[in-house]
Amino acid sequence: MPSQGKLYVVGIGPGNPELLTLKAKRVLEESEFVLGHRTYVEKIRNIVKGKIIESQMGEEVERVKKAIQLAKSYVTSLVSGGDPSIYGMASLVAEYIYFTKANVNFEVVPGVTALCAASPLLGCVVAGDHVVLSLSDLLIPWEKIEKRLKMALKGDFVVVIYNPSSKKRVNNLMKAMKVILKIRGNVPIGVVKNVTRKGETVFITSPEEIINDPEKIDMHTILFISNSETIVSNGKIVTPRGYSKKYRW
Ligand code: SAH
Repeated sequence: MPSQGKLYVVGIGPGNPELLTLKAKRVLEESEFVLGHRTYVEKIRNIVKGKIIESQMGEEVERVKKAIQLAKSYVTSLVSGGDPSIYGMASLVAEYIYFTKANVNFEVVPGVTALCAASPLLGCVVAGDHVVLSLSDLLIPWEKIEKRLKMALKGDFVVVIYNPSSKKRVNNLMKAMKVILKIRGNVPIGVVKNVTRKGETVFITSPEEIINDPEKIDMHTILFISNSETIVSNGKIVTPRGYSKKYRW
């Protein structure tokens, strides 16, 4: 019998269910199985009609294997926080399928990534060209992360930092702040914690302040490093795209 299953990797946004796309909602409603980390599953539990399979952090590979197995016969969704392509489950699924040649039909349903939800809370810090970088060295050696950070700073991009810190990984944050200080100086850094979640916090700081008090940054935080054009005014950060050079208001 031909298989009827399909695997959806569904982005569920940064936290607030209002930021779930219509498509994500429909796919979750139609899924016979929904797999995900406990904290993400919690946010969409009331939408799902099929069976929910929860797992813990660190069990991603097992979760993907299970989802692929189920998707051979059933409509299956694997949920991913924010957008699945941005440090999410999409690449794990794609790599797994590519390397194991698993025969499964899969589709990624995009979601609102933390950057898109956080930048407007600061004002408009991401307006044009920017670089998105993760400080997690679980999959990539630190030397490569540092090289990319240096290049992005030298290129005068606004740099958006995901995975800035964790209990085991405060060192990378400190090293990154020292690189920023050296190349760009003590520039304003926009910080948003728990975007659209309980405990949402927004503030502006600097590399020196973070070095002196790294505890203020945790794993639920996203950072925006300003570039040479970024302005701080009235507690907001704006990186002009150039309209004011082109138009008289
Ligand atoms: N796929 C997710 C990113 C997962 S990586 C996305 O598209 O947003 C995990 C990192 O994302 C966290 O360490 C943090 O830097 C950032 N992040 C995810 N959700 C966040 C939120 N609600 N508030 C602040 N940062 C968040």
